[in-house]
Amino acid sequence: MSRITIENLSKKFDQKEVLKNLNLEVRAEEMVALLGPSGCGKTTTLKLISGLLAADTGDIKFDGNSVIELPTEKRGAVLVFQENLLFPHLNIEENIAFGLKMSGVEKKIRTSRVTELLELVNLPGYQKRMPGELSGGQQQRIALARALAVNPRVLLLDEPISNLDANLREEMRELIRKIHEEENMTTIFVTHDREEALLVADRIAVMKNGSLEQIGTPEELYRSPVNRYVANFFGQANYIRGCKLGDEFYPDCQNTELKHDQEAEKKLVMIRPEFLHLTKEEFSDSDLMVLKSKIIKRSYAGERIYYQVEADKLQDPLRVIDYNLSNFEAGEEVFLHIPLAKAAYLKE
Ligand code: ATP
Repeated sequence: MSRITIENLSKKFDQKEVLKNLNLEVRAEEMVALLGPSGCGKTTTLKLISGLLAADTGDIKFDGNSVIELPTEKRGAVLVFQENLLFPHLNIEENIAFGLKMSGVEKKIRTSRVTELLELVNLPGYQKRMPGELSGGQQQRIALARALAVNPRVLLLDEPISNLDANLREEMRELIRKIHEEENMTTIFVTHDREEALLVADRIAVMKNGSLEQIGTPEELYRSPVNRYVANFFGQANYIRGCKLGDEFYPDCQNTELKHDQEAEKKLVMIRPEFLHLTKEEFSDSDLMVLKSKIIKRSYAGERIYYQVEADKLQDPLRVIDYNLSNFEAGEEVFLHIPLAKAAYLKE
């Protein structure tokens, strides 16, 4: 429904800068995960979007219109916290319909919206139960239904999945996607769990110390991270320092011609271990960088083998994940193939 634009948003708590000029754009009907370590400002961002907190500077727009001066109830964004705070003395129907009743919606409409929402969260017929009779996971679903009752444009979820038992997680992931799609929501959810973000979100916004490091699809972040921080967040990575000249890459800039060439740029190459390939015989291919190497460690892990490899020209050993189960021994000389098309060039 709403496109969300966050411009230069900053927030301090007692002199501590928690958000620093945060810029972020979430498309209409998109689901974005805010991912980052504890304390990087994820929850604060949601609170600012919902209007529960006031920003120090910057702007928040829904569909291009600033909402920064609007009170929470006029923004059309609801925030659901991980500890769902249902009213313990009201039954499920009264809990879900609470906001509708406050805004003067008549009983008949309230009743039918509650029925619809209970079906949406897969708890049909639960109208007359009390919150204390429900499991934690069920209460969380009711909290979601209550948030949706007022037909928000934007759904903000604070750690909706990570605190659940492993078997409930998949159910919750599916439910969040279903709600997002059926109710045509723009959804932002907070998580510190990369797998959760990868499995559920359309795009992931990676945060660090109150700013955005990168936003992209799960595949973009995995394959083309902009820096080491993002690369390391999404799995194992190999790094090779060197110089890039046109399409060529020279590890450690070891090429005499490079010394005279002003065009050569110093770069850090990142490549995931499963993209590297080992062979016994040398063969060349223009898309590959082939380096003479030695196996220094081999670990068998069932459907794959982990190798650590020392290449003649490189300072640090590289990791290789081999799904072809090639049988190399520690100490063996091999050729390491690095497909540069699958590498990302990072800023140093
Ligand atoms: P977590 O995953 O642990 O929830 P987070 O990324 O969501 O972390 P925030 O809750 O946004 O982080 O908090 C960011 C920083 O701001 C933390 O250092 C936190 O202690 C601080 N902070 C948050 N709310 C307040 C507040 N009301 N008063 C003072 N400091 C606060």
